[in-house]
Amino acid sequence: TAKILDGKALAAKIQKELAATITESQLKIGRPPGLAVLMVGDNPASAAYISNKERACAKVGIASFGKHFPTQTSQTELEDVIAELNQDEQVNGILVQLPLPKHLDAISLLHRIAPDKDADGLHPVNLGRLVRGEAGLRSCTPAGVIRLLEEYKIPLLGKQAVVVGRSILVGKPMALMLLEVDATVTIAHSRTQDLKTITQNADILIAAAGIPGLITAQMVKLGAVVVDVGINRITDSSGKSRLVGDIDFSTTAMVAEYITPVPGGIGPMTVAMLLQNTVSSYLQATSN
Ligand code: NAD
Repeated sequence: TAKILDGKALAAKIQKELAATITESQLKIGRPPGLAVLMVGDNPASAAYISNKERACAKVGIASFGKHFPTQTSQTELEDVIAELNQDEQVNGILVQLPLPKHLDAISLLHRIAPDKDADGLHPVNLGRLVRGEAGLRSCTPAGVIRLLEEYKIPLLGKQAVVVGRSILVGKPMALMLLEVDATVTIAHSRTQDLKTITQNADILIAAAGIPGLITAQMVKLGAVVVDVGINRITDSSGKSRLVGDIDFSTTAMVAEYITPVPGGIGPMTVAMLLQNTVSSYLQATSN
């Protein structure tokens, strides 16, 4: 049965290291790093994600400059706030929690974040840097996947990696980051024919489709490394609501060599990478 890739434990270790870095740098710099999370409206899932992020910030010593706006907030109001945060030297990371209410244009807000404060790594400049293989802020979820695989010394060079999903948030940057470490990458998506034939070839299989149970044991090569990015809330047969990934965990764990759990896998790694991006922006901004 598969060994667990323990994202929760690694995230805790990274947070400890970041806390030590912050304590030390703060002595020289005179202030802590800062992260501003902007939320508009009352999406309960977003509120839960944000309180998670802010709790993690507090734990490592990052100051939170979060702002919560009412649903009817205008585009220009938010643009002004982002412009102010771009100028504020206490703020090293800025992110807009998605989804936004329908009247707002999320893409154009994202474009206004200074690329070097783009803690989520989703600004076109940072995505472009990723495409070119230049240093830059990397998207948190795929960066968390790579960091977790590296921690467990999973060989990636030359391996067949299959990414299921092609979103800007996860699938596309994931595929590019696997290329950066010299994997041979295939991207599958909603229009892919015969998904099973493709996933069966994967030495490394990353599921990021948002469909509970999409990947079953029959689709996985014996000894593969299986990473579940999916976070889906389902109601089980007893009427209880719980979180599951895209991978049928119990059957897949019988054939894979390594597997990530949901929760406790990539979720905590994503938060750890957000903190890491904020700290690296802080160190960068204060280095001269
Ligand atoms: P998305 O809906 O934007 O993208 C889903 C992708 O899956 C699409 O590219 C689509 O082509 C593909 N897809 C859909 N059905 C498919 C099928 N039957 N076969 C193959 N591919 C299919 O979602 P997203 O934002 O990329 O998120 C994906 C999942 O990851 C969601 O469950 C989301 O909640 C989760 N997520 C988790 C984290 C984390 O921190 N762990 C972060 C972001 C997203």
